[in-house]
Amino acid sequence: MSDCLFCRIIRREIPASIVYEDDRVLAFNDINPQAPLHALVIPKRHIERLTDLTPQDDAAIGELARRAAAIAREKGYADGGFRTVFNTNADAGQTVFHVHLHLLAGRRLGWPPG
Ligand code: 5GP
Ligand code: ZN
Repeated sequence: MSDCLFCRIIRREIPASIVYEDDRVLAFNDINPQAPLHALVIPKRHIERLTDLTPQDDAAIGELARRAAAIAREKGYADGGFRTVFNTNADAGQTVFHVHLHLLAGRRLGWPPG
């Protein structure tokens, strides 16, 4: 989807602070971080939201989770703890309609979330 913000980041049309990239996954720092570590881990394939997933996306979504944990580990937050979140649609505050896994760490994260 050409006008999608995150597809444009994947194509390097918009700059981002990239923390990981491979053929299928990109991770970059959130522009408005809510914790000392706040990265977004996205599939390179454009999928709008979690409710659009099909079985062919299972591997991609699994990779997002595995990669988020690897980044948390690499940044020194795996043992202390981290949070991973998919916001879906309006009530959850989804603003960018390209599936993204938020990875937050580095401070005590309250539960339940706001
Ligand atoms: P959502 O609210 O859809 O769950 O999360 C979208 C996230 O994308 C927000 O945390 C927001 O700060 C982040 N974001 C929005 N625009 C940009 C941008 O241009 N670059 C980066 N790195 N993050 C962005
Ligand atoms: Zn996209």
